[in-house]
Amino acid sequence: MSFAEQQTIVVIGSGMVGLRFCEQLTAFDERRRYKLVVFCEEARSAYDRVGLFSFTAQRDAEKLLLARRDWYEAVGITLHLADRAIHIDRDRHIVRSMKGVNVEYDLLILAMGAYPRVPSVQGIQKQGIFVYRTADDLEHIVTSARKARTCAVLGGGLSALEVAGAVSELGLLTHIVQPGNQLLSAHLDRAGSQTLLRRIRDLGVNVHLSKTLTEARGESHIQGIVFDDGTTIDCDMLIISDGIRSRDELARQAGITVGEQGGIEVNDRLQTNDPRIFAIGECALHSGTKFGVTAPGYTMAETVAANFCGDSRPFEYGDLSINLKLLGVDVACFGQWETDTENVAVLSEEDAFAGVYRKLLFTMDGKQLLGGILVGDASDATTLAVLAKT
Ligand SMILES: Cc1cc2nc3c(=O)[nH]c(=O)nc-3n(C[C@H](O)[C@H](O)[C@H](O)COP(=O)(O)OP(=O)(O)OC[C@H]3O[C@@H](n4cnc5c(N)ncnc54)[C@H](O)[C@@H]3O)c2cc1C
Repeated sequence: MSFAEQQTIVVIGSGMVGLRFCEQLTAFDERRRYKLVVFCEEARSAYDRVGLFSFTAQRDAEKLLLARRDWYEAVGITLHLADRAIHIDRDRHIVRSMKGVNVEYDLLILAMGAYPRVPSVQGIQKQGIFVYRTADDLEHIVTSARKARTCAVLGGGLSALEVAGAVSELGLLTHIVQPGNQLLSAHLDRAGSQTLLRRIRDLGVNVHLSKTLTEARGESHIQGIVFDDGTTIDCDMLIISDGIRSRDELARQAGITVGEQGGIEVNDRLQTNDPRIFAIGECALHSGTKFGVTAPGYTMAETVAANFCGDSRPFEYGDLSINLKLLGVDVACFGQWETDTENVAVLSEEDAFAGVYRKLLFTMDGKQLLGGILVGDASDATTLAVLAKT
């Protein structure tokens, strides 16, 4: 195919999912039908956001990079680094950037990720208060932690527990403040969450459940936080990692449909209400669901790339399983692990002294493993996850 016949795909956002789309398209597009142009707002091209917390130990953001600049060059992708897309002209099919670059697209991929959700309470702008989303955020956190003694982390999901582990390792007295009534509610049942809670408390990290933040107090710098029940915690740092808000502002401006609670609405092909424009990753809203983990985002990226190259597949929810250490505690869930469905046989055991919890779900005849939750010891999680898939 001649270059003149090539179609241009513009990708806005080069995070984990945007990069996965570029990798997959490059792999599938054997006839070189497409030319890719990527706008990346951050100064670094795609890096491992999931592994970000390890930066506190190694202090080398370069090691987190998932693709270096020369990879983009080698596969013929034009990368506009540190340049935010600021306007989509849907009539003329042009994306304009902050640095004044205009690129005409045939197809447009929105992979703009999400912002951390920040509660609008009194004092939230004070010094010493951080969000945790980017490598730059983490650099600011590490710098501030050198002068701090006590840190509160707002949130009880994956990223909150990861950052709590990181600040605890930096030697700060750490408080996890979870507005909900259990930790890791998207991945664990109540018993699993209780086991994790006990293990974390045993490490000397304080955990406060069902706490609604009403104020960050102090002069210009934070000195403590106040809750709706009147209780307080003294702290000289607060890190907010409590849920996400899809980055859909560019889509809104362009008249692309977004959900009431945010998120760019897409159909089973990940297509927005404009047939040339697709949304993937944390900025997308599919069947009323926003996904805050990588696996479904990767499936979205693969689905769109495959369909652009002649396939015709719908997006099906990716695997929401996890298998990792949080504050040094093994946590895994895989396959179907919720017991609110009938016709499943449950095998569960809990060792409160060892801090270990296991729940495995089988078909009623016991022949097929469906999924499970492991806390405290997930050494066989990979094997079990494979068994659950076969
Ligand atoms: C601290 C932390 C820990 C996590 N831990 C886990 C975990 O253990 N397991 C797991 O599965 N998931 C985890 N996640 C979630 C996972 O990182 C996300 O699901 C994933 O990064 C989403 O990828 P994305 O490409 O949609 O968004 P992002 O990775 O956020 O990338 C979006 C990119 O688009 C850029 N962008 C936005 N707007 C524009 C614009 N207008 N122009 C140009 N660029 C733009 C942004 O700057 C960003 O670089 C964690 C997230 C965080 C923050």
